Amino acid sequence: MKRIPEPFRIKMVETIRMTTEEDRRQALHVAGHNPFMLASEDVYIDLLTDSGTGAMSDNQWAGMMLGDESYAGSRNYYNLCKAVKHFFNYDLTVPAHQGRGAEQILFPALIERMRTVRGGDKPVFISNYHFDTTAGHIELNGGKAINVLTDKAFDTNTYDPWKGNFDLQALQQVIEQYGSHNIAAIITTVTCNSSGGQPVSMDNMRAVYQIAQNNDIPVVIDSARYCENAYFIKQRDAAYADSSILEIIREMYQYGDMLTMSAKKDPMVNIGGLCCIRDHEALFQAVRTRCVPMEGFVTYGGMAGRDMEALARGLYEGADENFLHYRIGQVEYLGERLRQAGIPIQYPTGGHAVFVDARQLLPHIPSAQFPAQALCNALYVESGVRAVEIGSLLLGRDPETGQQKASDFELMRLTIPRRVYTNDHMDYVADALIAVSKKADQLRGFDFEYEPPVLRHFTAKLKPMG
Ligand SMILES: *Cc1c(COP(=O)(O)O)cnc(C)c1O
Repeated sequence: MKRIPEPFRIKMVETIRMTTEEDRRQALHVAGHNPFMLASEDVYIDLLTDSGTGAMSDNQWAGMMLGDESYAGSRNYYNLCKAVKHFFNYDLTVPAHQGRGAEQILFPALIERMRTVRGGDKPVFISNYHFDTTAGHIELNGGKAINVLTDKAFDTNTYDPWKGNFDLQALQQVIEQYGSHNIAAIITTVTCNSSGGQPVSMDNMRAVYQIAQNNDIPVVIDSARYCENAYFIKQRDAAYADSSILEIIREMYQYGDMLTMSAKKDPMVNIGGLCCIRDHEALFQAVRTRCVPMEGFVTYGGMAGRDMEALARGLYEGADENFLHYRIGQVEYLGERLRQAGIPIQYPTGGHAVFVDARQLLPHIPSAQFPAQALCNALYVESGVRAVEIGSLLLGRDPETGQQKASDFELMRLTIPRRVYTNDHMDYVADALIAVSKKADQLRGFDFEYEPPVLRHFTAKLKPMG
């Protein structure tokens, strides 16, 4: 497996505090065996998330100095609008403080339109897979969030190029079941975070948009990792082998009417988000009306002028093909090293993370004892690498019955921040996890010492079984 050299050089470094195994055992004990509760000072390589953890470039930092902090009509807002028009060809832009800020100003407006213009009364959203905050905002506004992800995503061992795709038949079926007037929107999430950073094909995006148009349903593109998705299309769909990333992005966004974006992912800013609409003035006005009390005035939406400038520049840098080649290659390299050592992962490797299948690696630990959490703990003690559980602990209990929900996956996610860690760091992570896998049969599951009533995975305290 070839390592793709970094297409940048480093002109500022941040020292990482080194720890001993004894330090890490102690830190994990204090953290209740929950890596979310560790101080970042106690972490060597932090693979908790790729959200807001990217390194900005010299060009972005230079842009920070050109911040126009006017309350209204900042020049950085207009630069942002220009970049949005360039990549997506959408005319109407509202900044937001991050992705969920965009969701909270758009979704109620979509539900309102469903009621008043389309005559619906029970709002339903359909997605390949709703991100957790996305489902949260839908449910907070009285809606229902339904996922119709392809079955292929659930078979981690078998290669499929498009494990982020919609199951088109299931999509049609859900529309018929609830009635198209009740479908507030279809949400195309690119790439699909929940199935392992897996791409949606252009054919699938096109077909989803056709179905939506036939039924008069708007399409929202949830756009945290649209550049990574575009790169996968170029790699895996022969029809796009000679297209530029820009051309692919522009076509992807023809298959949507609006977008929400967490700019903390592909555009590599530490905070920021967007809600953009192709040309629907009435909806734009409704979103702007909600923006003022929730996020801030319509030309800053919770962002400083300097942050909007860094984002405008980050939109260009995130879509650079040389960068994407290295970025996707680095994640794939880590995935391949693990696979060669016999460690089961969601295959092929996703765009932003390697998802290790803890159910297969630790068959002796039942779901109720959180095998992926056991793996995160062992990896941290071994190496100081912080990963995150995506499984039963995250999923939680059914609010009506109080029973643990049955999880489709028990995964440990190794999420790679952009431009932060070198290929040598990837080798360190691979070596550490391979060492842990050799003593997999000695790992023990966990039980709760303290279980918070909601969003328990963030602050839970756990104790080892036995
Ligand atoms: C991160 C993310 C969000 C939410 O964005 P925040 O910036 O964390 O508020 C929404 N959808 C997807 C697919 C994401 O990855």
